[in-house]
Amino acid sequence: MSTAVTSVPTWWLALCAGLFGLAIGSFWTVVVWRWPRGESVVAPRSHCTGCNRTLHTHELVPVGSWLWQRGHCRGCGARIHWRYPAIEAATGLLAAGAILHFGPTLTGVAAALLAMVLVPVVVIDLDHQLIPDVIVLPAAALGLALGIAAHPDRWWVPIVAALGAGGFMFALWLAYPGGMGLGDAKFALLLGAVLGLSVIPALGIAFAVGALLGIVMIARHGAQARKMAVPFGPFLAAGALVALVWGPSIVDWYTSKIA
Ligand SMILES: [Zn+2]
Repeated sequence: MSTAVTSVPTWWLALCAGLFGLAIGSFWTVVVWRWPRGESVVAPRSHCTGCNRTLHTHELVPVGSWLWQRGHCRGCGARIHWRYPAIEAATGLLAAGAILHFGPTLTGVAAALLAMVLVPVVVIDLDHQLIPDVIVLPAAALGLALGIAAHPDRWWVPIVAALGAGGFMFALWLAYPGGMGLGDAKFALLLGAVLGLSVIPALGIAFAVGALLGIVMIARHGAQARKMAVPFGPFLAAGALVALVWGPSIVDWYTSKIA
């Protein structure tokens, strides 16, 4: 594709994506706290959870404000958890990495979208064992639109992958309601929409790593491990990240073996 946008160096666009990711990450820090508590993510403005003081604009600079305030509130001195700058940094790095890897293409934008969405999904699932529909479903719709627009000649691939992955996880939820959440099925819908065929290795990796952890937990805690609830979202996210980078080679290798 020789569009005007490709005359701008990719590293520069990756840097812009990284800054955009930092801003989205800053929004995620609000979402991961407020969404599980049923609070609005837009109002009121960000405030310290220690002293309730509304934060100034310069206290909202992603990562930077945490660093120069040495991880403390300027008003009451309450510690600000390192997870907040970590969420911002991870979102920024993932967005920049997606554009660096895929270039400034529709595929790159879809990859950046998915990678950025993984951050709050993992954090909220670890904290609350919930997967936020309000993030996952719009992202799935957007991912589907980007996937279809990227390869209009193969428009059906993201649709089939999304419905296949979502349907597979939905069937597991029906069969073992205690094991999976319905949220995992909606999350798989998003993975299929963006990853296409690579959703197969993504799910394979998620289940393999999940099973490995299950074995480790049974070895350490015995029968008690069966009662420990482990959120599956982080495994799906890890599988998705591996599949974003290596999924196509894994699919090619596999199809060359059976062909
Ligand atoms: Zn404070």
